[in-house]
Amino acid sequence: MLFLRLLLAALTILLLPVAAAAQAGQAPIQAPIRFLLTFDDGPAWAPYSNPTVRVLETLEKNPYQANIKAVFFTQTRAWSGGGTENGRALIRREHAEGHVVALHSATTFHSNHRKMGREKLDASLQLGVDDLVAETGVAPKLVRPPFWAYDADTLESYHAHGLRMLLTDLSANDGVIYVFNMSFRKRSNMLKMLAETRKRWAAGEMPVVDGVTPVVVTFHDVNRYTARHMEEYLGILLDVARELEVPLSDKPFYDNRDELERAALAATVDTPQSAPPLPGFWQWMWKQ
Ligand SMILES: [Zn+2]
Repeated sequence: MLFLRLLLAALTILLLPVAAAAQAGQAPIQAPIRFLLTFDDGPAWAPYSNPTVRVLETLEKNPYQANIKAVFFTQTRAWSGGGTENGRALIRREHAEGHVVALHSATTFHSNHRKMGREKLDASLQLGVDDLVAETGVAPKLVRPPFWAYDADTLESYHAHGLRMLLTDLSANDGVIYVFNMSFRKRSNMLKMLAETRKRWAAGEMPVVDGVTPVVVTFHDVNRYTARHMEEYLGILLDVARELEVPLSDKPFYDNRDELERAALAATVDTPQSAPPLPGFWQWMWKQ
């Protein structure tokens, strides 16, 4: 009898805050966020003032968090990057420095996977996987479609090559047209996108891995403007999170490859239906 009474009392104490929160219409408390940085289109080829190198150096040393690890979606055969000796050396460096090396394309140019046809895409993905195994010794697990363009067939081909597709929550919009790589609206742009992401976070729609919610951010390491302003971008991300009162994890960025990869894999999109909205321009482009 005493046991039952004690049990009842314990249950009441345990359930009281839940009932109170439900009554007050409060949302359940979500896990704090951690920014998962990703870089597309690289590595850059330039032997001097190489933007990819600049990005790597900033991730390693900056005023916010030392030794940040990122996912690099590489173009293994790009004429101006991954297909050159310098580019391949940088792919090896990214891996050696503890980053996740993933696949973006294995074509000379930034080709659209959705328009390639299944046979050509299959061959291209195989080439890309083999290229990365040759440089890093590890098969890539993640892919990001050039131009964010994919359909059910593209996804099937990715899966057949052991690749899962990572889209993005936030984008620096630094890869649409490289000529316009000066964005005076860096902060307002990030603020707007994090405000959108915050809704999905508050609704509990985002994955929680190792106690944090990864928020995927996309940059282009071949963009010289981005490379020069990487430190400023890191500060902006922390700043907009504070402004929107989204709680940040003690470590606001990933600094461990395994954790980073686990989080990235949990945030992948595996069916066309489950996709979050694409960065502004591309959402408009592909929904036409
Ligand atoms: Zn790209």
